[in-house]
Amino acid sequence: MSDVAIVTGGSRGIGLAVVKKLIEDGYVIVATYVHSPGGLDETKAHTIRADVSSQSDVVQTINFARDLGKIKVLVNNAGVAYDDLLLRMKDEEWERVLEVNLTGTFRMTRAVIREMLKDGGAIVNVASVVGLVGSAGQSNYAASKGGIIAFTKSVAKEYARKGLRVNAVAPGFIETNMTVKLDESRRKQYLTLIPMNRYGKPEDVADVISFLASPAASYVTGQIVNVDGGMVM
Ligand code: NAP
Repeated sequence: MSDVAIVTGGSRGIGLAVVKKLIEDGYVIVATYVHSPGGLDETKAHTIRADVSSQSDVVQTINFARDLGKIKVLVNNAGVAYDDLLLRMKDEEWERVLEVNLTGTFRMTRAVIREMLKDGGAIVNVASVVGLVGSAGQSNYAASKGGIIAFTKSVAKEYARKGLRVNAVAPGFIETNMTVKLDESRRKQYLTLIPMNRYGKPEDVADVISFLASPAASYVTGQIVNVDGGMVM
């Protein structure tokens, strides 16, 4: 039976790089998206349109993956950002970011853990350095990512004895659609904060996720690994 890895939000950016890396690692991939499969069409991944904030979509994703083999890896990568200063932040901006980033991670994790209880597995959540240090104008996003960090550690503690490992990566500034919309002055400002003096690539994050998902990290759980060129240390 094949080992299956599920990657949420695999259509572009970090998720797509993770899909490509985990294919190289030998997994059968199930990748989700909401708007379009994007770059997934050029990979061997099995794709499914599924919104991580919808419980019925989550169940469909798990059923789809289960039919392909044994689910060994889940990467909770799907995420959105609707930035605003707190006094201007609309309820919908707060709720949607929490619903996709944090509740989506919860729903996918809960569903997958049931599948992994028998033979173990690895879950890697995509948090953000913003969840560690905060960010003006991103209180909703930072709260969702801080929540993912606390969630990661809690689930790691709860299932460590069952052979399940749960870790997170905290990317810094990675060049994707999410960051391309930042204005040039904000991008330059970020660069001054990065000791390695370059923005990250999706592949920089994918390599660390691949390691955390692999047997090479078999004694690592409950950890948050920053992938940020030294921005937060
Ligand atoms: P991106 O280019 O905007 O891609 C986001 C992905 O999430 C897309 O595949 C999108 O699918 C999917 N998605 C959005 N809403 C979804 C939903 N409700 N259900 C399922 N999938 C959904 O973003 P990215 O920069 O690669 O970010 C990936 C992850 O890394 C996010 O969790 C983000 O918060 C985190 N992160 C990014 C950075 C950075 O600097 N870029 C830094 C720290 C953390 P569609 O294409 O179908 O819309």
